[in-house]
Amino acid sequence: MSEFLQGWRSILDKPSGGQPIQRGMSHRCRVVTMGVVRTNSTWLIELNAEVVACTRCPRLVEYRERIAREKRRAYRDCEYWGKPVAGFGDPEARVLVLGLAPGAHGSNRTGRPFTGDASGKFMFPVLYETGFANQPNATDREDGLKLKDVYITAAVRCAPPDNKPLPQELASCALYLDREVEGLKNVKVVVALGRIGFDAYLNYLKRRGQLASRKAYIFQHGAEYKLPDGKTFLASYHPSNQNTQTGKLTRQMFVRIFKEAARIADK
Ligand code: SF4
Repeated sequence: MSEFLQGWRSILDKPSGGQPIQRGMSHRCRVVTMGVVRTNSTWLIELNAEVVACTRCPRLVEYRERIAREKRRAYRDCEYWGKPVAGFGDPEARVLVLGLAPGAHGSNRTGRPFTGDASGKFMFPVLYETGFANQPNATDREDGLKLKDVYITAAVRCAPPDNKPLPQELASCALYLDREVEGLKNVKVVVALGRIGFDAYLNYLKRRGQLASRKAYIFQHGAEYKLPDGKTFLASYHPSNQNTQTGKLTRQMFVRIFKEAARIADK
């Protein structure tokens, strides 16, 4: 690996502010070097290095760093990540999962998508059950979680206030999504978690000149479309507390989405 990439790895492995990662924290706070970049794919290492250093959205930079300083009481001993959160998973994946954004006290704390929050607690057991993960739990970047045949990313990579990114922030972050989708050559199925992820993929196709209008694509849980780029598009409600605790999204409904994704990937 080049010195350039090794240098970026050392940046990627430090929480916001560039302080060395503290060892000996409680399990709840544990983080580890090499947590974000577990790949030999040069393009992905370079992309993730750019993502993690990104400051294009002033409102989100201020928010993610303030949350990391102020912390939630339950995590006051934790060193928050406080930076953009890069995608995570298998660079050879046939299934791409596209979510909304990092959670303020979830990925913005742990530095890995869906890790350490309620959405991940709901999602990773389902990925485990459907054969996409080696374990059902995701607590921190040292927890041993490995994804197989699935890659997880988001429409925006910094935690937004109230989980609501602005249109300009979605547009700014889209350049990373474009490069990610183009680099993940084996993807056959895109699973959109929530309407923002759904629209983000359709907008990607529009930017590529592969889709003239989003009109024919209606977001509803379980909707399945064949896309102009040849991929299959599956829509799911987002596994947020708001959906899972109200019964809008049940475990069974979510399992069905990933079983369908696996079936299509294997075709
Ligand atoms: S949301 Fe995306 S574009 Fe905006 S600062 Fe974060 S990583 Fe950069």
